[in-house]
Amino acid sequence: MNYFERRNRLVNRLLRYEVGEIANPKVIQALRKVPRHLFVDPSQQLDAYKDYALPIACGQTISQPYIVALMSEWLALETEHRVLEIGTGSGYQTAVLAEIVKTVYTIEFHSHLCQRAQNLLDQLGNENIEFRCGDGYEGWPEEALFDRIIVTCRVETVPPQLEAQVKVGGRLLIPVGPEPSQILYAYKKEKNGLKALEKLQVRFVPLLRP
Ligand code: SAH
Repeated sequence: MNYFERRNRLVNRLLRYEVGEIANPKVIQALRKVPRHLFVDPSQQLDAYKDYALPIACGQTISQPYIVALMSEWLALETEHRVLEIGTGSGYQTAVLAEIVKTVYTIEFHSHLCQRAQNLLDQLGNENIEFRCGDGYEGWPEEALFDRIIVTCRVETVPPQLEAQVKVGGRLLIPVGPEPSQILYAYKKEKNGLKALEKLQVRFVPLLRP
């Protein structure tokens, strides 16, 4: 079976989850298109279309495909959106977002991962992604406000700067809580603060500080 067939088989499986359903056609189309096997370590390409997280460089992980799908679903993305992502990692979630929205701004703490993701996404022809290497805790004030913010590493509490950089009516997706497991929240930003729309128990790597 080739990678295209493997990928479609994986996506078909993700569509069968009944709780936390993946239904947005734009998300499904992006998952069918982005070649996840190019984002994992070459020695693990045959596992790229199985539904679990895999290790990448710098002690980090490429998220489980279902979690990438669910986070993309819960973001309620629209074509004209500008999205901020904290934790580029392999760049796979970045690529999925970039298939759907106008511009993705992505920040990665480890410069090695940042470079690697940028090279790969450039090679794949993505022109609507802005990269930054460094600490994403403070967000990207020069480009705020964002329609959506997605954080792919866990925090103990929601960083106030990230909350401040989401438009009112926009969404913030973020795993919150200590080890060993956290709650992934889909928040809606309202005038008087964040309102939790969805939640799921998850495990993420921690947000690192300099
Ligand atoms: N969506 C990515 C997930 C990578 S894991 C993927 O599927 O590949 C989370 C990433 O967050 C790691 O690469 C880690 O280095 C990064 N990270 C941790 N702390 C960070 C911070 N303060 N700012 C930006 N990125 C951070």
